[in-house]
Amino acid sequence: MDQQLVARIDAFVEENRSAILEDLAALVAINSVETAPAPGAPFGPGPKAALEKTLEIAGRMGFATRNCENYIGWAELPGADAEKYLAAICHVDVVPAGNGWDADPFTMRVNGNWLLGRGVADDKGPMVALLYAMKFLQQEGAALRYPIRALVGDNEETGMRDVDYYLEHYPAPAFCFTPDAEFPVCNGEKGQYGGALVSPVCAGRVVDIEGGVANNAVPDRASALVKADFAALKEAPGITLEAEGELVRVRGWGKAGHAAMPEGTVNAIGLVVNYLAANGLCNEEERAYFAALQKLHASTAGEGLGIACADGPFGPLTIIGGRIFMREGRMVQTFDCRYPTVTSGEALEAAIRNAVCSGAVLESGRSNAPFYIEADSPAIRACIDTYNAVTGENAAPFTMGGGTYARHFPYAVSFGPEHADMKLPPFGGPMHGANEAAPLDKLLEAVKIYALALLELEKVDF
Ligand SMILES: [Zn+2]
Repeated sequence: MDQQLVARIDAFVEENRSAILEDLAALVAINSVETAPAPGAPFGPGPKAALEKTLEIAGRMGFATRNCENYIGWAELPGADAEKYLAAICHVDVVPAGNGWDADPFTMRVNGNWLLGRGVADDKGPMVALLYAMKFLQQEGAALRYPIRALVGDNEETGMRDVDYYLEHYPAPAFCFTPDAEFPVCNGEKGQYGGALVSPVCAGRVVDIEGGVANNAVPDRASALVKADFAALKEAPGITLEAEGELVRVRGWGKAGHAAMPEGTVNAIGLVVNYLAANGLCNEEERAYFAALQKLHASTAGEGLGIACADGPFGPLTIIGGRIFMREGRMVQTFDCRYPTVTSGEALEAAIRNAVCSGAVLESGRSNAPFYIEADSPAIRACIDTYNAVTGENAAPFTMGGGTYARHFPYAVSFGPEHADMKLPPFGGPMHGANEAAPLDKLLEAVKIYALALLELEKVDF
């Protein structure tokens, strides 16, 4: 690395430390959770206000900005190439505050090295880091080959319709990275296939069944209300029983986790279904339906459904049953499958339909193909080598089951700024949780990594 350049970035970051904090605090102060659309605000007034504020900050830095009808916006550094440009995309919408905060989620707090507030990590902090990385490049005054565009998304958390709009109306970047995941570089994301297994109207022993809070999470609790003789039933591992009048409530207690990383989880719905089937708490239709669900819950690798597979870049397929509920007399079990390159949404649909047979009806949802970019392609090398040079690590690109903006672009990866091994302080929480926390020193380091990586990407022939 050019040590004089590194010294200039370090000085720049130090000079701008308080401005970075001020700009981030101004963004955190805007509650930018999606709400009902309003005229000129397709994702509601919150995301619109956060987008406008970000473009105002970028405009003050001297960048040309554009607001694309409040779906998305950008700030741009000019470059010589009239057609190809580089982009990085962050988002300024957030998930709802939720419960458990020690203070107002929309007032940024600083506690030692930690920033606290909704969005400091996901993804307003990275947005500000990216803008300051570009501000450094602007201050350097070097002539750029490719223009660099900082895209400001405002619908990442609830559908990514911001990038859909962008790619419908504007040419795609030659290469794009999104600072909305973990360092070092994620160069591939598994395919995603979701749907539900639906029972017939059984009118049998099961009066009610419920479990799970999201389709993409393994639930740690589930329960069924069944017609049964309480005195004749025994509790089992992970199962407790309660009499409810003439009925019995069967509760399952598992271990929660994310659909993209289900290793080590225990699905509470699977426990309940196994118990009902093993104890004959079902009529014929219910038994056939539970047999189908048992195939789903048998293994998060899909062995029960006959869809287990793996490839080199991604490893094994995963599948989990996220929610179960009653809908008009039918039981509905949702599932979320993340798959490697050796299968497809259509193949999975056919295999699952075949496996569940007449026990359940398969309702297919969305399917997104996996994407994978070779780890030693020049653009990936520019990102990973910069990361390793700055941090002194010897990290390699990784793949994941999660989904970011990257899969929506023709040629894109996610690139930081989280650190998987980061230990949160007792007063801090994770992304999407209460007391969302981000370490300031790592955020400032990210400014440096992004500035240097963009300069390296400028040297790549796209
Ligand atoms: Zn995010």
